[in-house]
Amino acid sequence: MPKQIVKNNVTKKAHLLIVDDTLANISVLRSFLATDYELTIANSGAAAIELIEKEKPDLILLDVMMPGMNGYDTCQIIKNNVINFYIPIILVTALNEVEDKIKGIESGADDFITKPVNKHELLARVKSLLRIKYLHDQLQEKVKQLEETKEILRELATKDGLTDIYNYRYFKDTLSKEIERARRNKSQFTLIMFDIDFFKNYNDTYGHLAGDEVLRTIAGLIKRNIRSIDTAARYGGEEFALIFPETDKMAGKIVANKLKDLVDNYRFNLDNARPNGKISISVGVSTFPHNGTTSEELIECADRRLYIAKANGKNQVIDEG
Ligand code: GH3
Ligand code: MG
Ligand code: MG
Repeated sequence: MPKQIVKNNVTKKAHLLIVDDTLANISVLRSFLATDYELTIANSGAAAIELIEKEKPDLILLDVMMPGMNGYDTCQIIKNNVINFYIPIILVTALNEVEDKIKGIESGADDFITKPVNKHELLARVKSLLRIKYLHDQLQEKVKQLEETKEILRELATKDGLTDIYNYRYFKDTLSKEIERARRNKSQFTLIMFDIDFFKNYNDTYGHLAGDEVLRTIAGLIKRNIRSIDTAARYGGEEFALIFPETDKMAGKIVANKLKDLVDNYRFNLDNARPNGKISISVGVSTFPHNGTTSEELIECADRRLYIAKANGKNQVIDEG
C-alpha cells in the first residue's frame, strides 16, 4: 500500500500537506508528487497547523527555514497534539549538519530530506513513511473495533437479553458492593423483590411471546421510574430484584408501593382479545442492616415476604414477617 491509503474501507490517493514559504520550492515538490498524491499547500507553519484539522493529511513535508514559525517549532506543535498522534513529518532542509538533524528529531520529525530535493529519494521516503502510516491507521482501526467489541461484551455480560435490564449476576455483584458501601458509610439500603401474579395463567392463555412482551414492558416501566443510582435486575423467570441505595425501611416501603401501583395502574395493550389488560405484582421488601447483613439474608428475607404477599392475596407489598 505505497501511494494509497485506506480510510473507512475506501481506497484513495494519499493526501500530502506541503508546507513551504517559497513558491519555487513548492513548484518542485508539486512536480514530483502531483501525479501520485493529493496535495494541499500551506505557506507558513501557522497556516499548516490550521489546515491539519480540516484536511487530515497522511503525511507532511515541512520546510525548516520559514519566516515566523520555523519548521522545528511547527513540527513540535503538530506532534504535541494528540489528535495528530501519528502523521509522519518529513523535514525539508538545506541544512545538513548533525545538530540540525538532532534538533529535527527532538522536535518529533520522522525523516529528513535535503535540498536540492532528489525526486527518487523523495518518492522513496514518502512511500516508506506512508507504509508505516497505513499500518498505524489499520492498527488504530483494529483497536477501535476491539474497544467496541469489548463494550458489547460488557453489555452482554451484565444485561438480561429479553428485558435489557441487569441480569442475575450483575444484581448479585451490585448487592455485595452495596453491602460493603453501606457498612462503610453506616447507611441503610433497601432490597425489593417482586414476582408477577398469575403469570403462568397469562402465558397459557395468550402465549409465551405475549408473556415476553409483558416482561419487557414491566422492566421498562420500572427502569423509567427509579433513580439512576438504583439497580433493576431480572432475578430469573418472572421475578425481579431491585436495589435502592440510601433508602431506609420507611422510604423502601413507599417505593415498593409506588412500583406495585405503577404496574397495577398500567394498561397493558396486550392482546385484541384482552385490551387494557391488568397485570399485578407481589412485592417483598428487606432493608439493610435491620433485616440482614449479608446478600443471602437480605434475599431470603425479601423472598419470604414476597411469598407472604402471594399468600395474602397478591398485588400487595409486604415488609414485615
Ligand atoms: P403466582 O401468582 O403465584 O406468581 O403464579 P404464577 O403463575 O405467576 O407463577 P408460577 O411460578 O406458577 O409460574 C411462573 C410462570 O412464569 C411460568 C413460566 O412459564 C413463566 N415465565 C418464566 N419466565 C418466562 C419468560 O421468560 N417468558 C415468559 N413468557 N414466561 C415466563
Ligand atoms: Mg408469578
Ligand atoms: Mg415466579
